[in-house]
Amino acid sequence: MKGLNIWTAYGWKAMQAIDAHMRVEMAATGHDEVCFPLLVPEDQFKKEADHIKGFMDEVYWVTRAGGNELDVKLLLRPTSETAMYPIFSLWVRSHADLPLKIFQIVNAFRYDTKQTRAFIRVREFHFFESHTCHADFEDAERQIKEDLSIMARLAKRLCLAYRVFKRPEWDKFPGAFYSLAADALMPDGRSLQIGTIHQYKDNFARAYGVRYEDDSGEHRHVHQTTYGMSERLLGAVVGAHGDDSGLVMPPELAPIQVVVVPILAKENKEPVIAEAEKAAAELKAGGLRVHVDQRDIRPGAKYYHWEMRGVPLRVELGPRDMKEGKVVIVRRDSRKKTSVPRVGMVGEARRALDLMAMEMLERSERLLAEGVRDIASLVEEPAMGVLRAAWCGNEPCGREMEDRLGVKMLGTPFEAENGPSGGKCLVCGKDALQRAYLARTY
Ligand SMILES: [Zn+2]
Repeated sequence: MKGLNIWTAYGWKAMQAIDAHMRVEMAATGHDEVCFPLLVPEDQFKKEADHIKGFMDEVYWVTRAGGNELDVKLLLRPTSETAMYPIFSLWVRSHADLPLKIFQIVNAFRYDTKQTRAFIRVREFHFFESHTCHADFEDAERQIKEDLSIMARLAKRLCLAYRVFKRPEWDKFPGAFYSLAADALMPDGRSLQIGTIHQYKDNFARAYGVRYEDDSGEHRHVHQTTYGMSERLLGAVVGAHGDDSGLVMPPELAPIQVVVVPILAKENKEPVIAEAEKAAAELKAGGLRVHVDQRDIRPGAKYYHWEMRGVPLRVELGPRDMKEGKVVIVRRDSRKKTSVPRVGMVGEARRALDLMAMEMLERSERLLAEGVRDIASLVEEPAMGVLRAAWCGNEPCGREMEDRLGVKMLGTPFEAENGPSGGKCLVCGKDALQRAYLARTY
C-alpha cells in the first residue's frame, strides 16, 4: 500500500541500531520506556484546539468494529499527545512525581496527501517520541537542552551534519509554544528535517488537566516537552552518504561492518575459505559485525553486492595474500585499498572504520557549510542549498520570502550565531534583528 512500507531484514537492523542507541540515551537521562495504545478516542483527540486543527486532515479513522458502528470514533495515533495526556493527569499528583520523563518507539500514521517517498514521506512511520512533564517553564527548557545534546550524539553516530532552527510561528507543531527542528542538507540542495523538539509550555496541560500540588499546597499546571524522530534519520543517511554504487553506511550503524571475501582459485578452495573464516572470527572477537561471503560467484559480483548495501569495509583474502601473510582492506567510501599484515588486521580494520566515520562526518559538515548562502535580494535567486536572509521577524514578510523564492523558511538559528547579523529585511526594509534560513525541503 502506498506510503505503508515493508522493512526488509537489513534495513530493519539499521533502524534497530538507531533505536538501540536511543534506548541507551533514554536510560542515561532518566526516561522510562512505555507503550500506549495505537487507537485514540475522538473526544480525547479534540481537547486541544490547535492540535486538532493541525492534524484533522491527516488522521485515519476507525468508525466500525465488526458489524457495529462505534459510539465514539477512534483514530490511529498521528502522534501520542492525545493518547498519553489524559493518563498523565492521573499519573501526576504532586511535585514529587516531576519531572515525568517517558518515551516510546512505535508506529504512527499520518495521511499525507503529497507524493510518498521511502523513509522520508510515508503514511505509517516508525516513531520515536519522548514526552516530559515539568514543574515549570525553566525545567522544561532544561529538558530541551538535554534533548539537543542527545540529538548531537546521535547525529555524530550517523556522521550527519545538521543545524537546529526555531521554526517560524506558522510552521510550529500544532499546540506548541515553540518548535525546534534539526535539519540536514541533502546533496541535491534540499533540506531534510530529521528531528523535532517542542516546548508546549502548559498548553496541553490546561487542555488535559495535567496538574500537580506544589510545596505550598497550590495546584499548578505542568510544563511539557516532546522530542520526535523517525526513519527519516535513515533516509538522511541514504541521501547524505550514498553514491552511484549505492549506500555508504556509517560504521556505527552498519548491520555488517566488515565483509570478508575469499578470493577462490579453481582448485584448492578449502584452505582459503578456512582462512577467511578464521579471519572473520578474529574480527568478531575484536567487537566488529562481520560476514563471510562464501558464495560460489565471481569476486566482482560480491563486491558489487556489498557495495550497494554500503558495508564499510571489505577484507579480501586470496592464496597469494595467504602466502605473504597479508590481507587487503578496502574502504567503501573512498575505495581506498590497503594491504596490511594478517597479524595486525583487527587493529587496522578498527582504525579504518574510525577514520571513515570521521571523514564521513567531515564531508557532511563541509557540504552543509558550503551549502549556506547569504542573499541580498529576492530576485533571481535560484533556490539551491540553504539561503540566509535578513528578516524583520514578521509573518507577512516571511511568507513573502517563501513565495518569491519558492522555498520554505526553516527558521532562525536556535543558538546565537557569530558573524554579521541585522541588516534590513529583504521584504519591508525595516531593521532585521535576525537572519532567516530558507531552503527547498523534502
Ligand atoms: Zn519585513
